[in-house]
Amino acid sequence: MRKFSGDTLLVATHNAGKLDEISSLLKPYGVSVIGAAEKGLPEPEETESTFVGNARIKAHAAAKATGLPALSDDSGIEIDALHGKPGVWTADWAETGNGRDFVKAMTRAHDELVQSGAPQPWTARFCCTLVLAWPDGHDEVFPGRVEGRVVWPMRGNEGHGYDPVFQPDGYSITFGEMDGPQKNRMSHRADAFAKLVQGCFD
Ligand code: IMP
Repeated sequence: MRKFSGDTLLVATHNAGKLDEISSLLKPYGVSVIGAAEKGLPEPEETESTFVGNARIKAHAAAKATGLPALSDDSGIEIDALHGKPGVWTADWAETGNGRDFVKAMTRAHDELVQSGAPQPWTARFCCTLVLAWPDGHDEVFPGRVEGRVVWPMRGNEGHGYDPVFQPDGYSITFGEMDGPQKNRMSHRADAFAKLVQGCFD
């Protein structure tokens, strides 16, 4: 397993919510982060049908463009009664043609669940795949997940994306009702980060 050396890591995302979480997760290791937008990098098209495929596209594009090691995160929510949808299309469900609207995306998920007639609980998981890529083409891959259910109505103003409709197993509050540190102890991203840190930062 290749180690990351340095004190600043390029994160291949234009998503401010993800960048914030990644920054908090890496702080304890003395690593600060810089985002792709700050570096003026374009957003590559995510043309693969798996989290790892799309994470690889983003990390390698950023590493190649800058000559620096780059970390990407491809993530989403898989809802069992919708056969794993929206999955890799999680962000696409929020597209309006004029930015992203996650209330629209969460409403679509709820509407499809009601239409499916699936009984509750509506089991689901957040998945996250991290890829750390180097300019020479080498990469390391770390998957993470957290199991839970989709709840309705939306609850809470914390977090980002689909957080207000995701209640992790063992809790009666949604990610949208948790503060950042609590979510960061149990999230799909935290799970993948623990593996990344053990593999590449220790
Ligand atoms: P992508 O990885 O950029 O394709 O986008 C993944 C999408 O999944 C994000 O835009 C969010 O909508 C959603 N997502 C990923 N992680 C989380 C999370 O921790 N909370 C809520 N939504 C998330």
